[in-house]
Amino acid sequence: MDKAFFKDKRVVVMGLGRFGGGADSAAFAARSGARVLVTDLAGPDKLAEALEPMAGLSIEYRLGEHREHDFTAADVVIVNPAVPPDNPLIQVARQHRALITSQVELFFQMCPAPIVGVTGANGKSTTASLTAHLLAAAAGQRDVNYRNVYLSGNIGHRPLLGLLDELTEEDLVVLEISSFQLEQLARIQKGPYAAVITNLTPNHLDRHGTFETYCRVKETLFKYQPLNVQRPCLSVFNAEDTITGAWYTKYHDQPGRTCLAFSADDVPERLLTAFQCPGRANRSNLAAALAVASHFRIAPDRIAAAVTTFSPLDSRLQLVAEKNGVRWYDDSKATTPVSTLAALNGIDEPKILIAGGYDKGIDFSELGKCIAARVKAVVLIGQTAPKIEQAVRAAGPSKVVIRRAETMGRAVTICNELARSGDVVLLSPACASYDMFTNYIQRAQAFIDAVNAL
Ligand code: ADP
Repeated sequence: MDKAFFKDKRVVVMGLGRFGGGADSAAFAARSGARVLVTDLAGPDKLAEALEPMAGLSIEYRLGEHREHDFTAADVVIVNPAVPPDNPLIQVARQHRALITSQVELFFQMCPAPIVGVTGANGKSTTASLTAHLLAAAAGQRDVNYRNVYLSGNIGHRPLLGLLDELTEEDLVVLEISSFQLEQLARIQKGPYAAVITNLTPNHLDRHGTFETYCRVKETLFKYQPLNVQRPCLSVFNAEDTITGAWYTKYHDQPGRTCLAFSADDVPERLLTAFQCPGRANRSNLAAALAVASHFRIAPDRIAAAVTTFSPLDSRLQLVAEKNGVRWYDDSKATTPVSTLAALNGIDEPKILIAGGYDKGIDFSELGKCIAARVKAVVLIGQTAPKIEQAVRAAGPSKVVIRRAETMGRAVTICNELARSGDVVLLSPACASYDMFTNYIQRAQAFIDAVNAL
């Protein structure tokens, strides 16, 4: 597939998405000479920001609804990863012989550069960013065989398809890949040159149904990698995770593939002293990135220098303020109980937690036990507030103070009343944000604004 394929085709982009994927796909198709229609169930008022990157391009819009005749008339439908594969309108388009595709499929079909794909339940963005950061430290140097390193995917620094105009065979692309995007890649049976999985715990069960299905989807990252005896592809597994540890055993003898297994304990102490990301979970992310860097033969002194200059990403256990001896941390990106557990276990001070949000169908019993045992007070927000409260109470007798808040502002006010000098207040919701906010970034901003207003 190439850009010429799109010339004069009728392309429907279904769903704009929260990470700019729809706008990227629409802009790419329009620049390639297609007649493009963007359709989204949300109305223009909600989509103002998402529409911005397409300003000035000749694109039609159908917002606030989907219309069946748009789909019967389409030659190509580019589907947002959030749209389930069994959506009836996609079936309609397929019956009318449209090509059903997606941003990530198009990228894999057209990208000339080797791809380093990072997936997992938690730590994807941090690990992808760290990996790109370590690889970039040697880019263009004589000891490595690539010129530039690009970072994209859900991290959204650069729109994916927009990169295609710049990329050459001599570059490297590090890509964070979600489970929804993996479902789409499975359709064309494509995988990256290098594949990394951070860990596996139940997530997105509202979409995938069972943990087994979710794991099967994640495994497709490895299943379709290009096996090559002359230039083996790379597969990197977390040895501390039971499931991905077993995948290492399953794949490591396969010809045409190099397998590496990493553990947080692998990271040399001398690297950790200069590493700015707190907690064992981040050590595990670093171990994964180091495994990739070793495969690309990056010199140890370059790696050591790069580790010191990597700063934590926004809203991942990030210190935002210190007031009257109370430290306020933004961990809004903690959208799963495991991430929140990682944060609670990584902080020793007395903790006041703000948690709760959109209900993805995940079990909160472990989180409930940890809150009951390790947290001074918890302020619950959003749809899952009752479920989390129940899980905390089910953990047995505990001194934890449980409160509810309707808004982030109110939650911050309650935390401020409860906090004493030396405490840590932590927004680490264990849930997605969509019940109250557009995304985790807006949730973080609401938290930061309320903290600053105290
Ligand atoms: P993802 O892209 O998978 O959502 P991020 O790197 O954005 O991962 O981090 C999301 C949240 O998970 C943050 O709250 C962060 O502190 C926490 N986290 C980061 N790495 C890990 C890990 N390896 N295990 C568990 N939690 C993690």
